[in-house]
Amino acid sequence: MIKFNVITLFPQIFEESLKNLPFKKAFEEKIAEYKLINLRDFSVNKYGSVDDKTYGGGVGMVLMIEPIFKALTTIYKEDVMKKYIQDPTKKNLPKGHRIVVLSPRGSIYNQEKVRELSKCTQVTLICGRYEGIDARVEDYISTDVISIGNYILSGGEIPALAIMESVTRILPGVLEKEEASKIESFSLGNNNQVEYPQYTKPENFEGLQVPNVLLSGNHKEIKKWRKEQSKKK
Ligand code: SAM
Repeated sequence: MIKFNVITLFPQIFEESLKNLPFKKAFEEKIAEYKLINLRDFSVNKYGSVDDKTYGGGVGMVLMIEPIFKALTTIYKEDVMKKYIQDPTKKNLPKGHRIVVLSPRGSIYNQEKVRELSKCTQVTLICGRYEGIDARVEDYISTDVISIGNYILSGGEIPALAIMESVTRILPGVLEKEEASKIESFSLGNNNQVEYPQYTKPENFEGLQVPNVLLSGNHKEIKKWRKEQSKKK
């Protein structure tokens, strides 16, 4: 069982997506569970503030460390978190637990990381907004800083969903046809390569023909063709 905790200012972004596959099955069958934590509930004042201006000057607002720390105390005891942030090795988090900050500064997410996270028992995802998150969260709180690509989104919610979905779909028992996830693009069964192109009916659409080899019934030739075609566009 893996548990996802998500710290976000926009929990509603997750609610609809998490009702669908692969999450639906994973949650129903208790292969995974999740908790959405609204950062606004941990604001530092009566005005609901969770962000402030950046030190050193610059445009935009930055999410403060204090509400994020307080949100984390709904997962870990406060004294445990206080000790944890003082420990430069970050080793006193329970085994199998990760705290992930979503940031364009992070390491680029890939299927190897998906496999690594799928072996965890608890993954907490911290979603940034505005100009980002106070860097002390990356430095002293997170175990991982992940980017989903070299482009900028407005928040960490879509990256967090991408992580949750990619991890959930490879958990044993989640996919109807589990074999599919073992040989699809970037899987170990596919040597981390992309999958071959696939076609379905009709054989000919407005002159656009399905490659003859796939209709030949010659499995050796089909296998050879698919291997040759397993490459990126
Ligand atoms: N000022 C930041 C910069 O220039 O790198 C961009 C902040 S972005 C507008 C706000 C938040 O969206 C980030 O804190 C992060 O959580 C999320 N985000 C945006 N792009 C992302 C990406 N490619 N991967 C992961 N998170 C991303």
